[in-house]
Amino acid sequence: MATTATAEKPIWFFEEGNGDMRELLGGKGAGLAEMTRAGLPVPPGFTITTQTCLQYYELGRRNPPGLDDGIGAAMTELERRTGKGFGDPANPLLVSVRSGARASMPGMMDTILNLGLNDQTAEGLAKLSGSDRFAWDAYRRFVMMFSSVVLGIEKDLFEEQITARKKKLGVSTDPEIDAENWRELVADFKQTVRDHAKREFPQDVHEQLKLAINSVFDSWFSKRATDYRRYNKIPDNWGTAVNVCSMVFGNLGDDSGTGVAFTRDPNTGAKQLYGEYLRNAQGEDVVAGIRTPEKIADLERAQPEVYHQFLDIAGKLERHYRDMQDLEFTIERGKLYMLQTRNAKRTAEAAVRIALDMVAEKLITKNEALSRVSASSLDQLFHARIDPKEKYEIACTGLNASPGAAAGQVALDADIAEKWGSEGKAVVLVRVETNPNDVHGMFASRGVLTAKGGATSHAAVVARGMGKPCVAGCEGLQIDMRNRTATLGGKPIAEGDWITIDGTTGDVIASGLKLIDPPSTLPEWLATFLSWADEARTMEVWANADTPQDAVKARELGAMGIGLCRTEHMFMQQERLPIVQEMILSDTHEARAEALAKLLPFQREDFHGILEAMQGLPVTIRLLDPPLHEFLPSQETLLVETTELRLREGEESPSYREKMRILKRVQQMHEQNPMLGLRVCRLGILYPEIYAMQVRAIFEAACDLKKHGVDVRPEVMIPGVGTKEEMKFTGDAARKVAEEVIAERGVKVEYHVGTMIELPRACTVADELADHAQFFSFGTNDLTQTTYGYSRDDAEATFIPRYLELKILADDPFQVLDRQGVGSLMQDAVRRGREKHKELKIGICGEHGGDPSSVAFCHGLGLNYVSCSPYRVPIARLAAAQAALGSLK
Ligand code: ADP
Ligand code: MG
Ligand code: MG
Repeated sequence: MATTATAEKPIWFFEEGNGDMRELLGGKGAGLAEMTRAGLPVPPGFTITTQTCLQYYELGRRNPPGLDDGIGAAMTELERRTGKGFGDPANPLLVSVRSGARASMPGMMDTILNLGLNDQTAEGLAKLSGSDRFAWDAYRRFVMMFSSVVLGIEKDLFEEQITARKKKLGVSTDPEIDAENWRELVADFKQTVRDHAKREFPQDVHEQLKLAINSVFDSWFSKRATDYRRYNKIPDNWGTAVNVCSMVFGNLGDDSGTGVAFTRDPNTGAKQLYGEYLRNAQGEDVVAGIRTPEKIADLERAQPEVYHQFLDIAGKLERHYRDMQDLEFTIERGKLYMLQTRNAKRTAEAAVRIALDMVAEKLITKNEALSRVSASSLDQLFHARIDPKEKYEIACTGLNASPGAAAGQVALDADIAEKWGSEGKAVVLVRVETNPNDVHGMFASRGVLTAKGGATSHAAVVARGMGKPCVAGCEGLQIDMRNRTATLGGKPIAEGDWITIDGTTGDVIASGLKLIDPPSTLPEWLATFLSWADEARTMEVWANADTPQDAVKARELGAMGIGLCRTEHMFMQQERLPIVQEMILSDTHEARAEALAKLLPFQREDFHGILEAMQGLPVTIRLLDPPLHEFLPSQETLLVETTELRLREGEESPSYREKMRILKRVQQMHEQNPMLGLRVCRLGILYPEIYAMQVRAIFEAACDLKKHGVDVRPEVMIPGVGTKEEMKFTGDAARKVAEEVIAERGVKVEYHVGTMIELPRACTVADELADHAQFFSFGTNDLTQTTYGYSRDDAEATFIPRYLELKILADDPFQVLDRQGVGSLMQDAVRRGREKHKELKIGICGEHGGDPSSVAFCHGLGLNYVSCSPYRVPIARLAAAQAALGSLK
């Protein structure tokens, strides 16, 4: 950007700047400049730079020297250009004061319209326009806006007076209030200002302007703006610009009006003008929803010439910016004015379709198209959604804290949520906020709604971790726990009533809507788009899948292999669990072997299904990982049961003795810290027959399939290895069984034996591990746990939300890979491993494999693939492409 000289120039008339100057002029200012420069009809005005805002703060909230004079001179120039006088009753110049940071940002100051009105200029405006009503309506709007935005008086205080006045007059809408009544209301409003701000409403127009400009500066550090920046990682030192723009009036009769329009449909991406228009109205009326706006197409009938001029401008702006634009405009007595242009927000579907269309229109290249769609936004497409056919009213809106929609009955505390959940009811947990004591209720619920808390609140963090929808900080929700009642958007809602929450948008609806499941195959437009991503990316995307059904889904969504197939889920299934328990409880080697022999056919069947579904692609099967106690009843349950049996059937009864045997064994197996105890490869070393059975099942299935011409590629993965001896012991044992089976069946099957890297020590001795492991896969869930020394489930439910609030952690390290700590261990492991074997295949199978920023990091590390849950495969494919193209870092 700018040389020092330009950076020091505090005030820029619109035609002096251009669209590339967002940093200095803010997004709105740069857009106004670019449009003015292109000769489009923009009312004259100027922008005070973001740098000036920063200086204002450096000076302890004081205008830098010379600024006031500069503003005065700019207003004189504006008077010259418009032929009007600021504060001149004969022909008053009115302006709008509008904030505008580099990125469009909620929490900044609301725009003030009609600044420059006072008791005298209002009279003048009435004469000039020939409409008393217009002038007094404009003045009352200005007093309301200025008083609420700048003087901090509650807007409702004014709205109440308008409502009372309408009641008194026996009318129902604002337009029915006549000039005389608006004039009286203005007088009442000024009294309200006296009562609440302990000052007169400023009549000096220069004072009005100065106060308004300083308010914009002040809003940069308002709580809402600051919170928004924290969450979106926008630096504080950008500052906001202020735009002062001469007013044009859409409320001067039926040939006037105001509207907003998108150059394409922001929901579907369809290439047609989409928007709303309100005749005889001023800016904020469209947003305020006081009157129902007309479709933009209706303008074509009413004022065809203006409509076609607008259509032409919209097309030009889109071609100029090479992106869909969001436009604001006003028509004053048949003349069109452009008030804003910016790149439009859109749904994920629209983003993809528009990117595809713009390539077809030769507006952008394929690679640009790939960078236009945020990878994480694709997530929207793979959660339950409200059926688009549903018609509904939004009761209130909160923060879209965790995506997806959920419908269920309101439960006001975690215990009732758990109870109803266990009865099979669909429940939405509704709380003021959540804390660790609510986690069991969150588990039992379809979704979570809270009245307080932001995007890093406990509810938000835990819900995201659980993959459940969450709307947080919903101010329209009031809960009275003493009476166990609540209101949504002012209307009462009882515990047990149905509601729907949409965590993708933040909407809350006071009824149970029909939801639709995410698609299990890719729609054609997305398949095409992702095929471009595949051309651009260099890293593969695999999926984590434990069942043939998941494997099929993963393939449909574009996975090129299975990076993690967990075998413990296979042990948990109903008819198998008793056999697993029998195996664990065996006292002798023979008894254990017998139980394992019974499990073998089940496991073989599992592997058969997955290997078949993934034919032609690698399937990484992890041998048993969790501590064995997870397959047994808890000590507490057993204590209760044995006591009951003893009382009922006596100490000699066989059922009591059997239960006692189990209890004894459970007590024997008790560990202080099972997650760091007898699990992962340690289990396979103490009970080698378990891993032997699993490897046998894998290769029996693989050989059978191979015999039938199926291309199988099993990869055996040993979990939790920390030393080369562990790797050698378990690796050799696995290979021995594999070779045995291959020899028995007489078919050759290619396979690899590798390890999951999930301990810091494994990273630091990765070169030694590489002597015995043919591949590495980073298990970053455990690697994060062990590197930080946090237990994930406990941490996310207790201190991580607070850590995020206090900025002790920038992100939840279980969601976004910690590059500095965990990442440097990974880097070390990659370097050491590849030193031994240049071609060593390395991937990641932790949940980070589906997080775009983590995917980009893995690309940078030179990993061969990322593996994530099936529904995140499309996200990872796009993220991998963006990383390869350098647009995602
Ligand atoms: P936001 O960033 O919230 O969109 P804007 O500064 O764009 O705020 O202003 C809101 C609305 O006020 C605009 O849509 C426009 O209709 C109206 N507005 C702003 N400046 C003017 C102006 N100079 N003349 C007429 N209307 C204006
Ligand atoms: Mg706007
Ligand atoms: Mg693990």
